[in-house]
Amino acid sequence: MKDTFKHKGMRKQLINELREKGIKDHQVLDAFNIVPRHYFLDIVFQEQAYTNMAFQIGSGQTISHPFTVAFQTELLDLKKGDKVLEIGSGSGFQTSILCELGAKVFSVERHKELHLKAKNILRELGYNARLSFGDGYKGLPSFAPFDKILVTCGAPNVPQALVDQLKVGGVLVIPIGEGAEQLMKRLTKLENGDVEEEEFGIFKFVPMLENKVK
Ligand code: SAH
Repeated sequence: MKDTFKHKGMRKQLINELREKGIKDHQVLDAFNIVPRHYFLDIVFQEQAYTNMAFQIGSGQTISHPFTVAFQTELLDLKKGDKVLEIGSGSGFQTSILCELGAKVFSVERHKELHLKAKNILRELGYNARLSFGDGYKGLPSFAPFDKILVTCGAPNVPQALVDQLKVGGVLVIPIGEGAEQLMKRLTKLENGDVEEEEFGIFKFVPMLENKVK
């Protein structure tokens, strides 16, 4: 695959669109300037890779809208070297954005096929994330605690395992809701183990499914 001047130009336009839609964090916008989203898409969608759209990535799943990826990333407020757990590797695009921002990234995916595909693309692009195949409801206890946790599928509730695997002061960004739409939440873990909650509007994700590893 090639990253041409045309692709780079289209990325600039996408960044303008993200800025117009309210993304302010320069580091997040810079990461979008670098990660070639077309690498993560099926050949038939590659021409549209830099439009603000979601696409099928196989196994009945979708790559999130660029705005959604940017919005969730901005909510994480990443610092270089943050240890981040992502639930729902999917295409690996969001994983790459997190890597580009200097995070130490761990990501879990329940579909073996997507997991393997994402692993290959990340390797090809030189991103050094640790991708695991498994059920994100359980988190990744052997690598906990994490500074930040990002859930990129719609969860019916907040899995306690994820809160347990957060550092005190750490944040969990998670879309909550059982239907087609979810409410974006950011939870900050307090010293006594409770969480403080903030809400950030309605989004649409594929569902987070429990015990459905395949
Ligand atoms: N971050 C991805 C978004 C993919 S969509 C990207 O940038 O492309 C969400 C992903 O979450 C899907 O691939 C889906 O298979 C996965 N998922 C759903 N429930 C899960 C679970 N319990 N554990 C791990 N992954 C899960």
